[in-house]
Amino acid sequence: MKKYVDVILPLPLPRSFTYSLPEDGMEDIQPGCRVVVPFGRKKYYTAIVCNVHYCPPEGYEVKEITTVLDTSPVLLPFQFKFWEWLADYYLCTQGDVYKAALPSGLKLESETIVEYNPDYEAEGSLPEKEQKILDLLSQEPEQSVTRLEKESGIKNILTVIKSLLDKEALFIKEELRRTYKPKTEARVRLVGVADERQLHILFDILSRAPKQLSLLMMYVELSGVLGKSPIREVSKKELLQRAGVSPAVLSGLVDKKIFEIYFQEIGRLNKVVHETVALNPLNEHQLRAFTEINNIFQNKNVCLLHGVTSSGKTEIYIHLIDEMLRQGKQVLYLLPEIALTMQITERLKRVFGSRLGIYHSKFPDAERVEIWQKQLSSQGYDIILGVRSSVFLPFRNLGLVIVDEEHENTYKQQDPAPRYHARNASIVLASMYGAKVLLGTATPSVETWYNATTGKYGLVELKERYKEIRLPEIIPVDIKELHRKKRMSGQFSPLLLQYIREALEQKEQVILFQNRRGFAPMIECRTCGWVPKCKNCDVSLTYHKGINQLTCHYCGYTYQLPRSCPACEGVELINRGFGTEKIEDDIKVVFPEASVARMDLDTTRTRSAYEKIIADFEQGKTDILIGTQMVSKGLDFDHVSVVGILNADTMLNYPDFRSYERAFQLMAQVAGRAGRKNKQGRVVLQTKSIDHPIIVQVMNNDYEQMVDGQLAERQMFRYPPYYRLVYVYLKHKNEATLEQMADVMAGKLRSVFGSRVLGPDKPPVGRIQTLFIKKIVLKIEYNAPMSRARELLLQVQREMIEDERFKSLIVYYDVDPM
Ligand code: ADP
Ligand code: ZN
Ligand code: ZN
Repeated sequence: MKKYVDVILPLPLPRSFTYSLPEDGMEDIQPGCRVVVPFGRKKYYTAIVCNVHYCPPEGYEVKEITTVLDTSPVLLPFQFKFWEWLADYYLCTQGDVYKAALPSGLKLESETIVEYNPDYEAEGSLPEKEQKILDLLSQEPEQSVTRLEKESGIKNILTVIKSLLDKEALFIKEELRRTYKPKTEARVRLVGVADERQLHILFDILSRAPKQLSLLMMYVELSGVLGKSPIREVSKKELLQRAGVSPAVLSGLVDKKIFEIYFQEIGRLNKVVHETVALNPLNEHQLRAFTEINNIFQNKNVCLLHGVTSSGKTEIYIHLIDEMLRQGKQVLYLLPEIALTMQITERLKRVFGSRLGIYHSKFPDAERVEIWQKQLSSQGYDIILGVRSSVFLPFRNLGLVIVDEEHENTYKQQDPAPRYHARNASIVLASMYGAKVLLGTATPSVETWYNATTGKYGLVELKERYKEIRLPEIIPVDIKELHRKKRMSGQFSPLLLQYIREALEQKEQVILFQNRRGFAPMIECRTCGWVPKCKNCDVSLTYHKGINQLTCHYCGYTYQLPRSCPACEGVELINRGFGTEKIEDDIKVVFPEASVARMDLDTTRTRSAYEKIIADFEQGKTDILIGTQMVSKGLDFDHVSVVGILNADTMLNYPDFRSYERAFQLMAQVAGRAGRKNKQGRVVLQTKSIDHPIIVQVMNNDYEQMVDGQLAERQMFRYPPYYRLVYVYLKHKNEATLEQMADVMAGKLRSVFGSRVLGPDKPPVGRIQTLFIKKIVLKIEYNAPMSRARELLLQVQREMIEDERFKSLIVYYDVDPM
C-alpha cells in the first residue's frame, strides 16, 4: 500500500501538507524525521514529518517528497504535543513554532542557483554587467546568486539576472544547502607495522632521515606503541607541534606509506571534566524552604519560591537539582537574560561539572545543533541552563523546571510568532512529562502571586537574607524640589553624589540605574512633572511625533497636545527621557578618577562584551556601573554599597497597565544589588512623585501592599489575572483600507465578544516595513475556555479574508501580551 506523510513546513501555513513516499526505501520513516519537499514554484523546504499514514489527500494533487534527511527522528513525541499546544494557545501556526524551535543548522537552506543556457546566442553586444555575469558562468556554468554577487561586485544583481532570464540566457533552479557542518580533526595513524620488531626495522630505515625519525619517535611516545597499550592514532596538529617539524616531513612519511592521515568528527561541545565540590549546606531558613517545596511537590506541580533578594534562592535550586539528578531525572533551569547565565554557570559548574549544558541564542548555531543532538541521545546533559528558547530542546526524562526571576518580561517573546511566554510554556511542557516547576523571585508577577495565593500553585516564603544582612536602606529624594531650587547637578542629587563619593573613598562600588524605557516618547511638564493621562484608562498618553497628538494605548482615544501645563500653567512641555550614555558622560565629569562602565543593549552586543563588563565589575576594576534594567536582574556582586535610581518617574508613567508592577519590581530588584555580602547597602531613589504609593511601597519593601493594590485595580479594569488579553494586530499597505478593515473586524468581534473589545487603536509605531498597523484589544474571562475564543477569532478572521476587499489583510495575535 502506498504510504503518505503529513509534514509541517517552516512557513506560516494554517495546516500540515501531505506528500507521498517514493516506492523504494523510506519504509522506516517516522514522525519527527526531516524530509525535503517541493512546495510552490520550484521551492524546496526542510519539513518535519508529523504523521505517517495510507490516505491520499483530497483537494490537491499529491507530490512526492524529494529526500529523507534522517533515519531517526530529531523530535521526541512530547515535543509534537508541545508544538501543538503552543500553536493553539498563542494563535499561530505549527510552522511558526517549527521555525523558532529548531536551530537553523538543522534546517537546510534553500539557495537560488543560476545555470547558463548552452544554446544561448547573443544578438549583438550585451550591457557590461550582463556580459560580466555570463563570463563568470562560462567558467562554471552553475552558480549561486550569492556567489555571483560576491564575485562580480554588482550591486543590483537581481535586475541584471532578470534581464538575462528574459533573454533566455539563463535558467534558474533551487538547491538546498546544508548549514551545519560537523567539526573534524586530522588524525595520523601508523600503517603496515604489525609488531615491535617491524617498528625497530622502521627506525633503522629512517636513521638517515633524522626529521622523519624524530616524528616517528614522537608518534610512538604519544600513542604508546612501544608499551603494552594498543596502537592509537594521534592528532596531526599535536604530533607536528610536539615533534617540532614541518608538515612536509609528515607528507614524506605518508608518501612512503608509513603513516596515514584521516579525518575524524569531533564535537564542538566542551568536554573538559571539571573538578566538582560538595554542595554548600543550607542554613536553617533555606532548609525550611527546601523542605516546604518538597512537601508541596507531593500534591502540586508548580510552586512559587518568594524569597527576598540575596536570601540564597540559588543555593536552594542547587539542592533541588541535586535531588532530581539522584532520581535520574533532567532539569531545565531558565533564566531571563544571557547576562545572567555566566554567573550562574560558574556556580552550577562548581557543583555539577560536565553534567551541565548551556543553551542560548548568542551561541554559534553549530554548537546549538550539537546540544540538540546530544539531548536527543540517551547521553544528554542532565541540566540545561538557558534562556527562553531552551524550552524547545528535546528532553528524555524531564523532572524539574526552575524558572528564575519568573517575573521578568523577557520571558515573553515579542516578534515574530510564536509570541510565547517561556514561564507559562514551561509549565505546560512540565505537565506533559509529569515534571515539577519551581518559580523563584523576590518580586513575583501579579499573575503568579494570584495563582500562588488562590491555591493553584504552592507558595513558600523566604524573608531572611543569607547571613541576615539587612535589606538596603532606601532613601527617597524629591528631585522636583531640587530642580526648582536649582540644586541638581544634571541628573544627580547632592545626596546621591555624596554617597557615591563616600563609597569611592572606601573602595566600594556603585550601581546607577536608568531605565531604558525612559526613551519612550512621552510629554512631561518641566516645572511640575505633570504627565498627561487618559480619561478612560489609568495610563499615561503616548506622544506621536508624526501627528503631534497624544493617544491612549489602550482605548485609542486621541487628545490635542496642550499649549501649557494644566496643573501649573508652565509652558515648557518637554519630551522626556535621558539615556545611560548621557549619565556616563556626566558622572565621568564629576568623578574623573573613578573607572566607569555602562551596561545596556548598545554595549553588550556580543557575549564577550557582557562577560567583560560583569567580570571587570566583579574583580573591582570598575567603580561605577551604569545600566538599564540589565543591571537589575539577579546579579550577585559582593562590594556594591550604593545604588542610585536616577528617575523613578519614567517607569511609573509608562503607558501600560503593568507599569506600576514593573516599576516596583525594577526598583526592588536593583535595590537588591546593594549590600549583599558585607554590610547594609544604601539606595538613593530620585523621583518627582515622592508620595506615589509605589515609591512608598518600594521604600518599605512592601511587596504585598503593592500586589494587593494592583490586584484590586486589575479586577476593576478587567485586566489579567482576572481577564486574559489578546491583542489582534491588522496590517495592510494602504492606510485607508486598513482603517476600514479594522473597523469591520472590530464590529464583528464586538458582535461576538461585546464590550470586552477595545479599539481599533493605532499602536505607537503605526507603520512597520511599509505596512500600516492597527490593534484591537480583546478581554476574555479567565475561566472561559481559550479553545472557544480561538475558534471564534479564527472564524472572524476567515470571514474577513473571504471578503474580496480585504484579501491581502494580514492578521496576527499576541496572547497574554506583556
Ligand atoms: P538569591 O538567589 O536569593 O539572590 P543567592 O543564592 O545568590 O541569593 O545568595 C546570595 C549570596 O549568598 C551568594 O553569594 C551565595 O553564594 C551566598 N549563599 C547563599 N546561601 C548560601 C549557603 N547556604 N552557603 C554558602 N553561601 C551561601
Ligand atoms: Zn484610554
Ligand atoms: Zn506643570
